[in-house]
Amino acid sequence: CGIIGIVGKEQVADRLVDGLRRMEYRGYDSAGVCTIDQGALVRRRAQGKLKNLVTELAQNSAPGLIGIAHTRWATHGAPTTHNAHPHATDDVALVHNGIIENYKPFRDGLIADGRSLESDTDSEVVAHLISQQVENGASPEDAIKAVLPQLRGAFALAIAFKEFPDMLIGARLGSPLVVGYGEGEMFLGSDALALAPLTQKITYLEEGDWVVLTRDSAIIYDSENQRVERDITTSGASA
Ligand code: GLU
Repeated sequence: CGIIGIVGKEQVADRLVDGLRRMEYRGYDSAGVCTIDQGALVRRRAQGKLKNLVTELAQNSAPGLIGIAHTRWATHGAPTTHNAHPHATDDVALVHNGIIENYKPFRDGLIADGRSLESDTDSEVVAHLISQQVENGASPEDAIKAVLPQLRGAFALAIAFKEFPDMLIGARLGSPLVVGYGEGEMFLGSDALALAPLTQKITYLEEGDWVVLTRDSAIIYDSENQRVERDITTSGASA
């Protein structure tokens, strides 16, 4: 339902939760964050209101300069903590808005391959499909190129890779996703409003676009994997 991602120069957990708070009006049933800290994915999730996630983070912090976060409006799987996003494998963590219509055959195939899925969501299969590519030696970019064309339905995705702690990848098809440009920091959001306190410089990704974010760059590709330039709008309209 709501997505935010930060490749930051300062700690991100509080700012991720602030971004989620700005999207609370959309409604949600659970929430979570995942950061990368000292070579590990650090994931915290909670059922119910954001204050439950804040309580969880007070007990178990999520340090790190990079992270993704989500408020979930369940479509596949009950609104429980184990179905809350981010979903993760050993190597990849991901948040997803929308519906992966063809998740079932992927799920069955992943389980037949001996992988253990911990949620009932459509979203988790995408984390595993990307992770499989990475485990087989693909770069994050090549993993995205291999997996995105297989997905049917609607998605906005923000993806973190444990081995690449200075980079996030975003992708959209049928669900909105924006890139926000900061000073030595870059942001992803499903909603420009979520990024309003962080930046007013926004690029609205187009259908089928995906983007590689680092602290100081956003490289955007279209659905044909061609590098493209998209307009950067600078407006207070979203503040
Ligand atoms: N289909 C996903 C799920 O049920 C994402 C829902 C959303 O957009 O929040 O977990």
